[in-house]
Amino acid sequence: MVRVRFAPSPTGFLHIGGGRTALFNWLYAQSKQGKFILRIEDTDKLRSKQEYVDEILFSLKWLGFNWDEVYYQSQRFELYREYADKLLQQGKAYIEKNPEGKEAVIFKVPQQKIKVNDLIRGSIEFDSSILKDQVLIKSDGTATYNFACVVDDATMNITHIIRGDDHISNTPKQILLYDALGFKLPEFAHLPLIMGMEGGRLSKRTGATAISDYRKMGYLAGALVNYLLLLSWSPGDNREVIDAKEAIKLFDIKNVNKTSATFDLKKLDWMNNQYLKKEDPLKLTEEIIPLLAEKKYIDKDNFDKDYLVSIVHLFQGRLTTINDFPDWADFFFLPEIKMDPLAKEKHLAKDLSKEFALFTEKLEGLEKFDLVSIEEAFRGMVKDLGIEAKVLIHPVRVALTGKTIGPGLFEVIYYLGPERVKERLGLWIKKE
Ligand code: GLU
Repeated sequence: MVRVRFAPSPTGFLHIGGGRTALFNWLYAQSKQGKFILRIEDTDKLRSKQEYVDEILFSLKWLGFNWDEVYYQSQRFELYREYADKLLQQGKAYIEKNPEGKEAVIFKVPQQKIKVNDLIRGSIEFDSSILKDQVLIKSDGTATYNFACVVDDATMNITHIIRGDDHISNTPKQILLYDALGFKLPEFAHLPLIMGMEGGRLSKRTGATAISDYRKMGYLAGALVNYLLLLSWSPGDNREVIDAKEAIKLFDIKNVNKTSATFDLKKLDWMNNQYLKKEDPLKLTEEIIPLLAEKKYIDKDNFDKDYLVSIVHLFQGRLTTINDFPDWADFFFLPEIKMDPLAKEKHLAKDLSKEFALFTEKLEGLEKFDLVSIEEAFRGMVKDLGIEAKVLIHPVRVALTGKTIGPGLFEVIYYLGPERVKERLGLWIKKE
């Protein structure tokens, strides 16, 4: 049975790189009907923080990567000590005292050539003669990363170690420990590096933001997962929108890219829009409600949900992030619209009293206030005036919404309803 693990250190938030590693482990487990283990590597007592643990767990759940088992290294110090003692007894490790007399356990690195057949990178060779002896247990009694990692991976029966390329220099050190402890070697797969948009390592400025921040910025988990997937893998054709369910069916670790990936926020924006387009409007509305409530655009205990779902549906194909919605759609919620001064200057500078009055009259004369009739009223007005429809589309839109862009004008009019439309057009009709 395949058993993989994701082993974050809670010394920081879960970032893009960690999310990508978690995804590939989770995906591999799902595609092989294996187990996905979460191991919190909190051996560094000073730098590990509970808030980071909480954020990592929250983000993994949000992304949909549910784990089958979870372990905390801070609860396993005795086990590491046991294995260190074993190596001491066998003469494979020795004790070193620091000036205060505290003891550390050091591994005697044997001189040998090490060969790994990495599932992504192919055969890699290392020469251990360049390695110094390795600390296993520090003088404060805690285990080092490489030692705890090997003891855990072996005792947790991990079959495949899938992690970022930045750990490749640890792999030979770990293999030597597997040999020394008589453990069976797992398979290794090192995922290519993720670079920032301007080259170089991913930095805070270039997208190394916490996964939970992407959620706060209004990205959908599905879109982010799909984006992380494409960063280092492709299904072999040109398809880009592949959700997690489909990815499980298509995934083959052999198709993981060998070359580094570049994080591109624009591409993520594009992906998010693809997912927003196809998202169930009701589900999307649930995510949008808190944003509107926060801005006091709705009273979250008393609003017309069906109406809101219709408005969300109207906009969802145009949004880049969920957070765009309140600003784009504010005119549906505010009693007084926010007027874009440039739009006003461009489209409402001329006196349009006659046109708006005629349109209002036509709308008032409608038997039914539906999309077809609204369009008829509009066409009737421009015909009576002997002008082209496009001459008035923008001014009417700007008068009703304060903006030059948005959903179809007739839909805007329909969902605003006759009273609000009359009132807003009326503001531009000069009284005699
Ligand atoms: N705790 C390590 C990290 O966060 C895990 C490395 C590994 O997967 O072996 O980078």
